Amino acid sequence: MTRTAFPFDNTYARLPATFFSAQPPQPVAAPALIAVNAPLAEELGLALGEASELARIFAGNELPEGAEPIAQAYAGHQFGGFSAQLGDGRATLLGEVVDHHGVRRDIQLKGSGPTPWSRGGDGRAWLGPVLREYVLSEAMYALGIPTTRALAAVRTGEEVWRQEGALPGAVLTRTAASHLRVGTFQYFAARRDLEGLARLFGYAKARHYPEAEGPAGFLRAVIARQAALVARWMGVGFIHGVMNTDNTSISGETIDYGPCAFMDAYFADQVFSSIDRQGRYAYSNQPHLIVWNMAQLATALVPLMPDQEAAIADFTEAVHAMPGLVEAEWLRVFGAKIGLAAPCEEDRALIEDLLGIMEDGGADFTNTFRALSRGTAAAEFTDPAPIEAWQARWRARIAHEDGWRERMERSNPAVIARNHRVEEMIAAAVAGDDAPFHRMMEALAMPYEDRPEAAYLKTPPKPSEIVRRTFCG
Ligand code: AMP
Ligand code: MG
Ligand code: MG
Repeated sequence: MTRTAFPFDNTYARLPATFFSAQPPQPVAAPALIAVNAPLAEELGLALGEASELARIFAGNELPEGAEPIAQAYAGHQFGGFSAQLGDGRATLLGEVVDHHGVRRDIQLKGSGPTPWSRGGDGRAWLGPVLREYVLSEAMYALGIPTTRALAAVRTGEEVWRQEGALPGAVLTRTAASHLRVGTFQYFAARRDLEGLARLFGYAKARHYPEAEGPAGFLRAVIARQAALVARWMGVGFIHGVMNTDNTSISGETIDYGPCAFMDAYFADQVFSSIDRQGRYAYSNQPHLIVWNMAQLATALVPLMPDQEAAIADFTEAVHAMPGLVEAEWLRVFGAKIGLAAPCEEDRALIEDLLGIMEDGGADFTNTFRALSRGTAAAEFTDPAPIEAWQARWRARIAHEDGWRERMERSNPAVIARNHRVEEMIAAAVAGDDAPFHRMMEALAMPYEDRPEAAYLKTPPKPSEIVRRTFCG
């Protein structure tokens, strides 16, 4: 029988002690495997043993050989307010592996018990957020958008107490290109630990941007990745919900799926997160907030520069250039969604008019874009006149565009992880039925294809099914 084995090749645990605290995961009462992502395990070069062993390992009850469990230090701006010390309060980095593509990947347990960074929290996660992250991160991956991934989910057999009462506990295992965050840089900058900051910079640059020249080149490289990432989120109607600087990755992956969601009806100022009372992280604010987050990264990098005044001028320029980058990426993403290979500035108005018509008509974001290339978009509206007028303009624009239909099929998913279906799936899992979870994973695997097994994810919620709020775990 195969024994579970990870080809660990750890580097973070070699960094100075200020970067982390050594912290094994805390064993749980009754580990039970919900899912393991076999194709991902294969990509990582993992050997998978039997289910009971996998459950023990992914619950943190048993450490695989070579694991060096640590909780990482970081700081961060949460809703604009700075916390000099956050860190992994409920996560354990087991170690790193180099995958089949030669990319170094972190393997982290989330919900694995208290750490020195828990600040009074229980260090745990409940089943709902664990399955939400599993499904949404894998959906993001299938959409082709950079993201952390879900490797496994287990029940702990223990209860976790939240506002709602006692809930079943769970642990998520995820992989990431790294768990370096803007907040990791802020941690060392805030402590004025220049040596640590320089060490972190060297590590992050070597791991993610080896070609970048100095902190200035590094900053511009992160900005470029984040501009592209947020534009991709916008293109699929994704609302992260907690774009704090500790949830903004240096690698440019989507990270820390909390009260996030894909929207149904298009509404520019959509907010789902129950804790986002001011709408700071509303859909339409995401392109602005990512610039704010990059300004915090820039600030944290300044102490690395010998001439700080010159650095401030240069970094300010890089940050001020970012809105233009996000807009260019946005235009590319939404241009493709209406079939354009090389959208120009004049096309921006065409796209914005479409969004305005969708917003006025309460039309479903995903379904309307998908229907456009099939000539059935009018059916998404009670009053078809505005969309028909728009389509006349659009048809004139794409008349000489090669391959527009295929481009649209590749850019407009047939299905998303619809919020009401996600909530339904979680409720079933809480009641002990994991079938909706597995069904959803299957349905979201090929989002750009029309598959009968995914059809149930095409239907927008009935008014009574609309989920208006999502919660943290
Ligand atoms: P998040 O909102 O998930 O980005 O987390 C923000 C901070 O709170 C991080 O430092 C987390 O590790 C910490 N945290 C969140 N939930 C818990 C928990 N249940 N126990 C301990 N720390 C937590
Ligand atoms: Mg966390
Ligand atoms: Mg976080």
